[in-house]
Amino acid sequence: MTAAASDSLAGKVAIVTGGGSGIGRGCALRLAADGAKVGVFDLDPGNAKAVADEIVAVGGAAHPVTVDVTSREQIDAGVAEIKALYGPATILVTSAGREGFRRFLDITADQWNALVSVNLTGTFHSCQAVVPDMIEAHWGRIVTISSSSAQGGQPFMTHYSASKGGVITFTKSLALELGEFGITVNTIPPGFIITPMTERNAEKGRLGPGGLDAVIARTPVRRGGQSEDIAAACAFLCRDEASYVTGQIIGVNGGRTTTSTVF
Ligand code: NAP
Repeated sequence: MTAAASDSLAGKVAIVTGGGSGIGRGCALRLAADGAKVGVFDLDPGNAKAVADEIVAVGGAAHPVTVDVTSREQIDAGVAEIKALYGPATILVTSAGREGFRRFLDITADQWNALVSVNLTGTFHSCQAVVPDMIEAHWGRIVTISSSSAQGGQPFMTHYSASKGGVITFTKSLALELGEFGITVNTIPPGFIITPMTERNAEKGRLGPGGLDAVIARTPVRRGGQSEDIAAACAFLCRDEASYVTGQIIGVNGGRTTTSTVF
């Protein structure tokens, strides 16, 4: 990362949930490079600190906060901690998420609830905690990270794709409600981005026959996505000049179809 990719977000305060790994990490690094002060929220304190340290090492501003997004109390405390340090956050990226891979009939109610709790309810908590400050500022940018699996469906991922489908409709509805306050709300459904999550799936043989190479061969641009690909779209959505883009699903997927393909 360079010290500053641009100064398009100078003076802004951003919170990135799941910022300690993968796509969240990529978004945190990029928003910081564009000048935002970043609260790196993650369940894993070591990962959150490592990303914040990475940003500070190149001259950016970042602070790690250990947060479980299923806990409204922890989110509220984290948002207050960032506000005390940097001022109110008016950019939120919700990347904290868990994957699930199980035959439909084997999914227990507890497993269903656990995924919905992180992926969908965690998004709800995170947004509700920051929106009052965005309304006060009459400016805000929310980018939710959903999933291409919610656009086309995905076998063995009914719980996961349902939770992400909820994120998409939540995003569209929230955009309609908050537009009058200068707040945009958009979602990026990633399609096969190489992160610790996809690496875990590859190790478990969940990418289907041929593994990673076969997935890349089926991808029109013939490569796996990188967190930086998502971060670039996210950074655009957070800029002032994106103020007329809201309620949108911005697919970043290398041209992969959103019809059902095994991952
Ligand atoms: P990742 O590397 O596993 O990152 C997810 C991060 O979220 C991890 O740091 C994880 O912490 C954190 N997290 C999990 N549960 C949390 C909780 N309850 N509270 C706070 N943080 C929590 O995965 P990724 O691939 O970057 O995924 C990021 C987002 O993109 C997820 O929402 C995922 O569903 C979505 N997505 C990814 C892809 C892809 O191709 N990679 C495709 C579609 C959608 P721990 O490490 O401690 O668990």
